[in-house]
Amino acid sequence: MFVFRDSREGDASRTRVDVAFTDASLDLREQRPDAIAQVEAVAGVPFARLVQVHGDDVVLVTAPTGHDDVPTADAAVTTTPGLGLMVRVADCVPVLLADPDRGVLGAVHAGRSGMVLDVATRAVERMRDLGAEHLVGWVGPHVCGACYEVPEGMREEVAALVPEARAQTSWGTPALDVGAGVRAQLERAGVEVVEVGGCTREREDLHSYRRDGHRSGRFAGLVWAS
Ligand SMILES: [Zn+2]
Repeated sequence: MFVFRDSREGDASRTRVDVAFTDASLDLREQRPDAIAQVEAVAGVPFARLVQVHGDDVVLVTAPTGHDDVPTADAAVTTTPGLGLMVRVADCVPVLLADPDRGVLGAVHAGRSGMVLDVATRAVERMRDLGAEHLVGWVGPHVCGACYEVPEGMREEVAALVPEARAQTSWGTPALDVGAGVRAQLERAGVEVVEVGGCTREREDLHSYRRDGHRSGRFAGLVWAS
């Protein structure tokens, strides 16, 4: 079910934060509620999820989402005990954020547009407003810079804003490394970054839109506290 799991315990609090990224054995698209239920059974908490639109809105959530009340945003933050956060991706960069001592959690969906809008920093700022101090950020599996081909003009336009994202494909054409860009943004925002690794396009155990097109499922980044 998971390609990666980690946990952190607060120094001052006894709060344990768990993070995980699911694998391609699950498809967490909206039309697969059974898969969401499976994840919730394993984690032992309900999750709030998002309708993701490649923007920079950050929403504070206080309750799990049902069928008709899923907020539209690309980052969620919470301080509600027993509530998990979920973002869903297939090539975009999923980021999970936590300050276990302060009990503040965040989850971000950052693709190319989200990186340009710096949605990750917006989420960090919101978490600091909620009392977060030492933040850890897990950068999950995503399409790597050697696989994400873009037109030359787009690469230069994006690299002018986020220089770390400038890349080249393994076949020598212009590319973007969105993961490197998001990582740099998190570091500039004072976050301790954990790079999970794994290219979605290259790894069959992860969903990839660039590899599979419209048939592609979605995997999830999950963060919860216990
Ligand atoms: Zn790759």
